[in-house]
Formats: sequence, C-alpha cells, structure tokens
Amino acid sequence: MTTLKAVRGTRDLLPPETALWNRIETTARAVFARYNFGEIRTPIFEDTSLFARGVGEETDIVSKEMFTWEDRARAQSEKPQMLTLRPENTAGVVRAYIEHKLGETGQLQKLFYIGPQFRRERPQKGRYRQFFQIGAEVIGPPSAGSESPLRDAEVLEMLASLLDELGITGWTLELNSVGSPADRARYNDTLRAALEPVKAKMCVDCQRRAETNPLRVLDCKVPADQPIIATLPVIADSLDDDSKTHFAAVTAALDAAGVPYTRNHRLVRGLDYYTRTTFEFTHGGLGAQNALLGGGRYDGLSEAIGGPKAPGIGFAMGEDRLVLTLLAQESNQNLTVKADAFIAPLGESLNAPALALARELRRAGLTIELGDGSFRLKKSFEAADKTARAIVILGEDELKSGILTVKTFATGVQTKVPRAELASSLANPAPE
Ligand code: AMP
Repeated sequence: MTTLKAVRGTRDLLPPETALWNRIETTARAVFARYNFGEIRTPIFEDTSLFARGVGEETDIVSKEMFTWEDRARAQSEKPQMLTLRPENTAGVVRAYIEHKLGETGQLQKLFYIGPQFRRERPQKGRYRQFFQIGAEVIGPPSAGSESPLRDAEVLEMLASLLDELGITGWTLELNSVGSPADRARYNDTLRAALEPVKAKMCVDCQRRAETNPLRVLDCKVPADQPIIATLPVIADSLDDDSKTHFAAVTAALDAAGVPYTRNHRLVRGLDYYTRTTFEFTHGGLGAQNALLGGGRYDGLSEAIGGPKAPGIGFAMGEDRLVLTLLAQESNQNLTVKADAFIAPLGESLNAPALALARELRRAGLTIELGDGSFRLKKSFEAADKTARAIVILGEDELKSGILTVKTFATGVQTKVPRAELASSLANPAPE
C-alpha cells in the first residue's frame, strides 16, 4: 500500500516548534489586547463570490489560486453553491461586519484573527498552500473616524511594536499610497499608455494585465520584465491633493512615533481592494519570499460586497514566515523544554502510587513525566535524563517512609526529600 502523506503544500507542525507558534500567538494576543482589539473567528470556507467581488477577479489569488468546489444542491430546485476555502481573511471579516450590522454601533470595530488560509501557490520555502495568518482590521463608519490617517499610523506603530516584542530584528517597513479609486483610474490610464509601446516585449501575463488591469503589472516577478517596469511612471505622480495630504499625515505620525519606514513606489499589493495606504514589512533573512506581512487601507471594500460605506485598514502577517525568521535566530535554536521531574516507580506495584504522586505534583503546577514500573532503573535514568531536569525514585521504602530520593541531573546531586517538601524543592532546585 502506498503510504499517505500530507498533501503538497501542507505540513504538520510538531513539537517543539509548535511551542514557538504558541509563543507568537500569545504575544500577538497580548499586543492586540493593549490596543483594545477583540478576536473574530470567521468560517474557513465562504461563498466563492465573496472573494471574486472582494479580492478581485483579476488578482492571481482569485484567478489562479483558490480551492473552489461545487457544493451539492440541497434540493433539486436549488442551484449548487460554489464554495471556496478562504485565501485570506479580510473579505470574511468585512462580510461579517456587514452581516452583523456592526457599523450600526457607530463605533470603530477593531478585530483580530488567527487562522489558516489556503492558496494553490507553487510551494517553496515560506510559501505553502495552507498557511497561517495573524491579522487585524480597523473598520467602521466614516463618522467613527475610520478614514483618519491616524488609524493607519496606529496600526503600523502596533505592528512595529509587535515585531519588536516577538524578538524579530532587522525588519523594514515599506510604505506607499495607491490613492483613491479615481487616482488609481488615472494612474491605470497613464500606465496603459506607457505600456503600449513596450508591452509586446513583456511576459504574457503582463501583456494581458496591460489591457485589463495595468496596475498589476507592477506585481510581476519575471526578471526580464523588471528593467521595463523600472521605467514606468510612479503612482505618487497620479495622486490628488486629498490622497497626498492623507499620506503625508500617516508619515508625519510615524515620524513622531519614531517608526522607521521607506517609500516603495512599486508597492501596489496583490489584492484589488486596497486604497490609499499600502504597506509590507519585509525581512532580509527570508530569501525570495521576503514579506513578513502586508496590508493597507480598503475604503471601498464593504460597498464592493454590498455593504454600507465602511472605510478600513488592516494587515495579515504570515505566521509561517514569523516562525522561519525566529527559528533562524540563535536564541531559538533549542526549543525543547524539559519537565521538572520524571517519576520512576520501582516495580509495577508502584505504578498506581506513582500516578497519585504525579497528580499531587502536577496540581502544584509542576511538569511531570511518569515512568513505568516495568522499566529497569537504568532505563528510567536514561528516559529521565532526556526528558526532565530531575528524577524522583519511588520504591516501597520511599512510599512507606514518605521520604523520596531525588537526583538533579544538572548538578548530579542526589538528596532525600520529604514528600510534603517535594513540590517546592523541584520547583526551586538548589543552585548549581
Ligand atoms: P497577503 O494576504 O497576500 O497580503 O499576504 C500577507 C502575508 O501572508 C504575506 O506577507 C506572507 O507573510 C503571508 N503569506 C501569503 N501567502 C502565503 C503563502 N502561500 N504561504 C505562506 N505565507 C503566505
């Protein structure tokens, strides 16, 4: 029989690395709490049209990368529904915002999520078909201040703090403005005109994009096209005064807060819903897939999927890439955490009392490995040395006298400890 394996582009996350995943999520939750964000959990699959309308038909995500299937019709009269595993979470959050009429509260909604996303991309280091994103959205009616450039700056400042707190050093914040829909339309025309004489020399995707959505040409990764792309006009020159003022206010607030950034005129991002501020945090250690996270403002998204006017700004961090970056750092080379003690029952008749002792110590907050009375003492010592900081020997004598033999591996010291003092002695081992 052929052995079954995780599907291409998916993977199992195993200990001890999962400890790092948990640490990242715990830190992210703590940071989100300090900025007063609440958690949202949306379904892993949605109606396909949400992504077609929300993310954009022309994007690579929607046109090439979605896992979509036709759901069986419930009744003969019904049309089968097209469903898609979410390739990103912003569209789902905005759908939920509309569905639950969150705008009617009149308040800004500050929501974060942590969960898997699915894209049929070509798998490589840092790029998977099931990957995890930690993201957040700030969305609300304009009367709640959702369009304010201060929201953009606050989100960026929060991200800088989160990366610092995670211990990720050496990141770069790349910032741009893609302007209003009118600015983009103007820029698209400018680009289309600029592409006209050169597009025949470009890749087939760019030739198509030059007609349908010239802005997407800037996303092209084909090396031969890059010299041509470098000569194209930049979007900054197509922004109107409002967009320029908005962007200037974002950068002024970042300067005041001391958050460093660089302007990247080519940053237009792979999703159609962005307006005005767009950004990416990159990290040199990641290689080709160097984006740790990306995001931006999406003032028209709610209306594009049938909702009220609800400007917003958000981001998604690639958790897989945060893990890769942290794993490459010296301080995370050894993630294995040893148990406080390994209990070695001397003989099978001591298994039950050993479980009682383990329960006592675990209830006191200690991490305990429980051996087995069928083990010879040598095997117990070997297993204990691999998994725990100390071994507690439980024989008939120890059980009767209530005095246990404890050996601490780091020091090699063996002592007798009364059962009542065992928990505190294991929790605070004598200094080496
Ligand atoms: P996006 O939703 O495309 O703006 O992506 C936001 C972030 O998610 C990126 O900066 C990456 O860190 C991460 N990401 C996107 N696609 C993948 C993928 N296929 N595998 C791993 N991480 C991804």
